[in-house]
Amino acid sequence: MAKLHLHNTLTRKKEPFEPIDAKNIRMYVCGPTVYDFAHIGNARPVIVFDVLFRLLRHLYGADHVTYARNITDVDDKINKRAFERWDHKSSLTKAIRDLTDGTLEQFHKDVDALGCLRPTHEPRATDFVSNGEQPLDMVRVIEKLIANGNAYAAEGHVLFNVPSMEGYGALARRPKDDMIAGARVEVAPYKRDPMDFVLWKPSDPATEPGWDSPWGYGRPGWHIECSAMSGALLGEVFDIHAGGLDLIFPHHENEIAQSCCAFGKPGQPNPLMARYWLHNGFLQVEGQKMSKSLGNFRTIREVLNDGWSGEVVRLTMLKTHYRQPIDWTLKSLEESQNVLDNWATILRNFAEPEVAGEKAPAEFIDALADDLNISSALAVMHGFARGARGGDRADAAKLFDCLSLLGIDISTHQAKADALDFQEAIDPAFEQYITAAIEARLAARAAKNWAESDRIRDELASKGIQLKDGKDANGNAITTWEVKR
Ligand SMILES: [Zn+2]
Repeated sequence: MAKLHLHNTLTRKKEPFEPIDAKNIRMYVCGPTVYDFAHIGNARPVIVFDVLFRLLRHLYGADHVTYARNITDVDDKINKRAFERWDHKSSLTKAIRDLTDGTLEQFHKDVDALGCLRPTHEPRATDFVSNGEQPLDMVRVIEKLIANGNAYAAEGHVLFNVPSMEGYGALARRPKDDMIAGARVEVAPYKRDPMDFVLWKPSDPATEPGWDSPWGYGRPGWHIECSAMSGALLGEVFDIHAGGLDLIFPHHENEIAQSCCAFGKPGQPNPLMARYWLHNGFLQVEGQKMSKSLGNFRTIREVLNDGWSGEVVRLTMLKTHYRQPIDWTLKSLEESQNVLDNWATILRNFAEPEVAGEKAPAEFIDALADDLNISSALAVMHGFARGARGGDRADAAKLFDCLSLLGIDISTHQAKADALDFQEAIDPAFEQYITAAIEARLAARAAKNWAESDRIRDELASKGIQLKDGKDANGNAITTWEVKR
C-alpha cells in the first residue's frame, strides 16, 4: 500500500501520515458561512479535501474515516440580514435558522453538482452553542477555559487570555506585532492584553440572536465553534485539520489555543489539537483577486449556469496542486472540457467496470499519496487514455478507476465539442493509426479478403471511428472516416 505523505503547516514539512487510530481516521475542515451563494473560492477546499477524504477511504477503508465539515450559521452578517427579515412572531434565533436553511440547501446543491461526497458530519454552529444533547458545546468549552485559567469574563464578554498560553503562534509563526496587526484586534477597556480574543459576546435581545449563558444573553465568537464541534464529533485530538490558507491566522491559531487549553489540564495544555494541518492556496480569477468591485466575482451557481458541467469545474479546480495558488480562467475551463471530452469519447467504447474506484491502479494511488500530487496522477491517467485509445481494455478500466477515485463521473459527461471540432482536435498519433488501418483495409479489399476488411472496419468502429467507402474523381476506391456520434 502506498504510504501517504502530507505537507503539514505546523512543521512546514511533508511528513509520513501516521494515524492516531487506523480504524478511525478523523478529519475536520472549516466549512462555509451560509450567508450567501458559495463562490468558487469556497469550492476549492470543498473539492480538494473531498479528494483527500476519498483517498483516505481508499487507503484505510470507507468505514474507517470520519470527516466533519462545519456550517457557520451564526455570524454578524447573517444576524443583520435575519433581523431585517424578522417577522417578530418567532425568536430571532429561529429567524437566522430559517434564513440559513435556504442558503445551506443551495450550498448542498452546488457541491453535490461538483461531485463532492457529503462529510460524515456537517454540524451547524447553532446546534452546538448551548445544547445538553450534544457531547460538548461552546458554553462548556468556554467554562473549561475559565476553570483552567485561560479565559476571563468581563462586561458580558468572555475573552481568551493569549499570554496564558505558552507557545501561542506556533502554527502561524509570526512575530507578535504582526499577529496583533493581522488579527485586527479591537481595543476594549475590558481586555487584559491586546491579543486577547472573544469567546462570547453580549447580544441585544431586541436586535440580535442569542442564547442564555452563565455570562448573560449572548452569542459565541467565531473561533470557538470549531473547537467545540471538532471536540464533540472527533475528540480532543484528531488526525487532520484543513482549510484555506487565509484561515491559518487568526482562526486556526485561535482554535489551537482554545482546544489545547480547554482539553488539557490547568497549566498543562494538550500539545496538539490536530496532528496534521493542511491548507489550500488562494484562488484568483483571470490573474486578479476575485472581488465584487472588480466584477470578477463568480459563484458556483453562475459557473454551472454558464454551461460548465460539475466534472469540468472539478477537474479545473483539481489540476492545480492544492497548495499552489490557482488562477481560475476561461482557458483552463476549456482545457478541462477538452480533456474530459476526449476521455469520454475513448471510454464510450468500453463498458464501465462495476467496481470502478475500488482497485485504483497503484501508480495513480502512489502519485496521490504523495501530498495529492495531481500532476503525476494526471500524467498516469493520460497514459491509460493513450492505451485505451489503442483499444487496451485494461487501460480503459484503469482510467475509469482513476476518474472514479477523483470523483469525476465520466459516464454522464456530455461532450461539448461537436464531431467536427473533435475531428480537428484529434490526437496526431491516433490519426496516423486510423490512416494506416484504412490503408491495410484497402489492401485487403484489393485482395478480396473481405473477412480482414470487415475486421478492420469493426476495430475502428469500436474506437468510435466510422468508415465511408467511395470512389475518387478517377474512379479509384477511397475510404474516408469520421467520428461516430
Ligand atoms: Zn474553523
